[in-house]
Amino acid sequence: MSRASNPNARAPMLFDIEPVRAPRAELYAQVALNRPVAVEFTYSVPSDLAPRVVPGVRVAVPFGRMREVGVVTSTSTRCELDQVRPLAALLDDEPLVGSELLELTRWIAERYACAWGEALHAVLPAALKRETESAKVIVASVASGVGQRELAEIESSQPKQYRVLRTLLELDGAIELRELCRQLNLSDSAARSLQRRGWIRLERVEAGAGELETSRVERSRPERLHEMQREALAVMQAALERKQHRAFLLQGVTGSGKTEVYLALIERALQLGRGAIVLVPEIALTPQTVGWFRSRFENVAVLHSRMTDAQRFRMWKRLQRGEARVVVGARSAIFAPIADLGVIVVDEEHEPSFKQGSTPRYHARDVAVERARGAHAICVLGSATPSLESWQAAREGRLTRLSMPVRISGHGFPPIEVVDVRSEPIGPTGHKLFSRRLLVLLGETLARREQAILFQNRRGFAPVLWCSGCKETLRCARCDVALAWHQRIQRVVCHSCCEELPAPKACPTCTKPGLRYVGAGSERIELEIARVAPGARVRRMDSDTMKRREDYEATLAAFGAGEVDVLVGTQMIAKGLDFPRVTLVGIVSADGALHLPDFRAAERTHQLISQVAGRAGRGELPGRIVVQTMSPEHPAIRAAAAHDFERFAEQECELRAELGYPPFGRLVRVLFEDASERAAVDTAREFTEALRERLAGRPVVTLGPAPAPIALVRERHRQHTLLKLPHDASTIQATLAALRETAEATTRLRPVIDVDPSSLL
Ligand code: ADP
Ligand code: ZN
Repeated sequence: MSRASNPNARAPMLFDIEPVRAPRAELYAQVALNRPVAVEFTYSVPSDLAPRVVPGVRVAVPFGRMREVGVVTSTSTRCELDQVRPLAALLDDEPLVGSELLELTRWIAERYACAWGEALHAVLPAALKRETESAKVIVASVASGVGQRELAEIESSQPKQYRVLRTLLELDGAIELRELCRQLNLSDSAARSLQRRGWIRLERVEAGAGELETSRVERSRPERLHEMQREALAVMQAALERKQHRAFLLQGVTGSGKTEVYLALIERALQLGRGAIVLVPEIALTPQTVGWFRSRFENVAVLHSRMTDAQRFRMWKRLQRGEARVVVGARSAIFAPIADLGVIVVDEEHEPSFKQGSTPRYHARDVAVERARGAHAICVLGSATPSLESWQAAREGRLTRLSMPVRISGHGFPPIEVVDVRSEPIGPTGHKLFSRRLLVLLGETLARREQAILFQNRRGFAPVLWCSGCKETLRCARCDVALAWHQRIQRVVCHSCCEELPAPKACPTCTKPGLRYVGAGSERIELEIARVAPGARVRRMDSDTMKRREDYEATLAAFGAGEVDVLVGTQMIAKGLDFPRVTLVGIVSADGALHLPDFRAAERTHQLISQVAGRAGRGELPGRIVVQTMSPEHPAIRAAAAHDFERFAEQECELRAELGYPPFGRLVRVLFEDASERAAVDTAREFTEALRERLAGRPVVTLGPAPAPIALVRERHRQHTLLKLPHDASTIQATLAALRETAEATTRLRPVIDVDPSSLL
């Protein structure tokens, strides 16, 4: 069956336009549009445009009564349909999407059950999805003279405007409006209202080059590579030189010199006239990381999520012209238009942030391997604690494993001490926040004028407000999560929808006064350090304090320059930081992720401990690590403490194999969300039943539907169904087809289909 179709024929009831009889044309184009239907649409090509309409060019086409931008996927001189409309305009003189990316997006559409047009949409910079391009961005700042008085005036009457104004006042500078809205989870209407009051300024400015564009960090080239580095490099270079596709798992402990291997490999690729893409987790895309690449190569391009549309667009053009041959970036940089790719590196390949959380829900690691295959390039997946998917793939020979088991410095690993906080005395705050052991080591570290990192993977002061009367916790009215107390802003905040409220004086359920602040987030840790280590210079690094990239850079620079003694933070500090004077790392609580209702809970915990621990003792000075937990016997924690990834992976894989979870099977999650609980439940049930029928006789396990672990988000009820499939191409294909058909037959709400989900919450 042809994938191409006709817009008028497909949805006649949606558009009250007359079908157009096909004018006889010499050429027809199949066009992928950003629509959730698994077909391309056919248009006739006006004869004057025909020579230039080729696969990969953008065109404007009529769609119903609208005009849309799409990408031509193929052309043909024949057309079976009897009704087609002509395309309206040609937007590019040359293909904007080369054949390589065209193929890659088609692969994504098939693998992740979305439309080709939706996959293409993810690839193109926003500016290229419209007919006209704008190089301007809107920047918000507080009008002069506006301050706490105005803030107080709208505190209770205009909660959204209040959040915008408070954040801008805190920033004490300008921020791009889009970024501000993204962080506050708001549309821009609150900011527009503030502008009308004359309290904030919204200015359209030419987008600058971006700070990461200029970072350069000296990284001296090592005199010679370590033997294990040379061995790993030799294997990969051999494949590179033969222009042979191969995928590697570079399993190297933290400090084993993986970055040096990447640099050397890319250097070789450039000598051979080929380009490179380096993917790092968004959080690890620091000036330090980028700077390493900049100091070694000319013309390194950076792609990250905080770039403006205009910056992204300029970068895309630069890459297309071949002005930069190396790209360092987060997830979406895998689509960078680099011709003749030689190397793709995915550093920290186990990171969940490589999975995109909206359509197309691709996993950049898997896309990287596929892109490398198409480009006859080599793909290097690097990690100290690989995902079990990659680890198992290496065991089965689908990836070639290269091991770097020791640290370059020759110092070995700093010991990890696991402290059972259940046996610690309760401190004056009613919390076992810091164990005696951690306090002793912190004191010693500060006395030696060395630095410490304290990790706590929660924001705010207290994650839970608890009533001792009715034993209830304070919850968000719109989401199924507890509200966290944020002391500095004196409010309770929902970490799911970002709404906030003044804390109630009494329990809303039983009216008993005095809710208790239970547990500790990074804000409390920061404040407590000031109490237990007076005089220590403390800085906090989490998304509350680091609204702008500049803040992040300034804090890292201060830490690097020794102006900060203790860095407290969330996962923002877990990755990539390489500061030789850090000799103590404390994980205040390792239990946060351990009890999540997700089969990867143990894996995530193990990875996080290993990663945070890897920040200590990276230089000449010996490091020490304290892990505080209430589950010291948990295998994930024990293995991390023993620096024994292999043991953990083997144990965990046995469990997964028994349960048929990845890597021993594939998962697809279907999520149903609706404001009406009834509608969510009913649709989930009907959909799942229809799906079961379609899949009858296939070796697919269908679990559910059931309420999702977080059953309410932003007033939308959530139900989900989980499918477990074997690694078998025909079953997978049949399942995806059944999902697509069932989804297309579902009229009430559109389920989210998440292939290879990285979170089941
Ligand atoms: P990883 O990425 O595996 O954690 P890095 O590549 O950051 O490790 O290397 C760790 C440290 O060792 C860095 O400070 C780096 O400069 C240094 N290093 C790497 N390779 C060598 C080498 N061959 N000789 C000396 N120092 C090296
Ligand atoms: Zn909420």
